[in-house]
Amino acid sequence: MLRENMINSQIKARGVTDERVLKAMLKVKRHLFVPFTHRNLSYEDIPLPIGEGQTISQPYIVALMTELLELKGGEKALEIGTGSGYQAAILAELAKEVYTVELLKPLAERSQKLLKDLGYENIKVKHGDGFLGWPEYAPFDAIIVTCAPEEIPPALLEQLAEGGRLVIPVGAYYQELRQVKKKEGKIISKDIIPVRFVPMLKLGDASGGL
Ligand code: SAH
Repeated sequence: MLRENMINSQIKARGVTDERVLKAMLKVKRHLFVPFTHRNLSYEDIPLPIGEGQTISQPYIVALMTELLELKGGEKALEIGTGSGYQAAILAELAKEVYTVELLKPLAERSQKLLKDLGYENIKVKHGDGFLGWPEYAPFDAIIVTCAPEEIPPALLEQLAEGGRLVIPVGAYYQELRQVKKKEGKIISKDIIPVRFVPMLKLGDASGGL
């Protein structure tokens, strides 16, 4: 099976061990989130275009970032950059509630519909600017950012719960994937690996229609 092969050769082989993450990646059908034109490549070790100049990350990066969120099942999680909705679906398998914010309206609308059609009832999608987080539902036990800002947006640090984890690529062209924890009000940051993500757009960069 293609998904099983993806887990073994791309994800386990590179050191992701969280059984819950591996199980979720085996369960969620990535091809349903990939446009028809690229569907045959859904389980390859590459990022793929999802329209509007955006991409769905390579499966290994999704697995690694999800593992770094250290989800146990009871969390409230926030994602910035809904894109295709794939990462949100993975989170929904592993956390209690998922809130996801997307700047580009066509992507927000498409993934909201897809996630609803797939029966996910614990995901809320919002068309909005991720630099602001989603204050109405804060604080979040886990925050994942799937586009790259040059600096960590202050609102996301504020909306991170005590004991929470934030996983985010930071940098201009080349980025470092960072895991940030809030412990006794202090921010503790760890660099994980260099990565390449699409930039986190500022309002005005994008035809987001906000
Ligand atoms: N997690 C997605 C991949 C997202 S690609 C998936 O699983 O498919 C990054 C996404 O971030 C794009 O859809 C892009 O439109 C969005 N994005 C860029 N800047 C943003 C911002 N300021 N706020 C919210 N979303 C943003």
